Amino acid sequence: MSDCLFCKICEGEIQGDIVFESDDVLAFNDVNPQAPVHIIIIPKKHISTVNDMTDADELVMGKLFSAAKIIASQQEVSEDSYRLVVNCNQKSGQTVFHIHMHMLANRNMTWPPG
Ligand code: AMP
Ligand code: ZN
Repeated sequence: MSDCLFCKICEGEIQGDIVFESDDVLAFNDVNPQAPVHIIIIPKKHISTVNDMTDADELVMGKLFSAAKIIASQQEVSEDSYRLVVNCNQKSGQTVFHIHMHMLANRNMTWPPG
């Protein structure tokens, strides 16, 4: 998508602080971190929200979790704790409409989230 921020990061049009890349998945540090570790994990394919997923996207969405596991190990938070968050639509807090998973770690977190 030509006007999508995260597609532009995938295409190198906007620079991302990339921490992980595979054929299908990209991960980069969040520009406005809400925790000492705050990483955005995305499929390279543009999918706007969870509501826009098709059955064909199940594989790549599974790969986001596999990437999260690898990144947690790289960030040395696997043995401690981390939180994975996917917002869907505005009231949940979604501001970038390219599906993404947040990884947050290295601080105490509350439940339920705000
Ligand atoms: P959400 O609010 O769930 O849509 O998450 C979007 C996230 O993208 C926010 O945490 C933003 O801080 C982050 N973000 C926005 N622009 C950039 C950027 N250029 N590079 C990295 N993260 C970004
Ligand atoms: Zn996109």
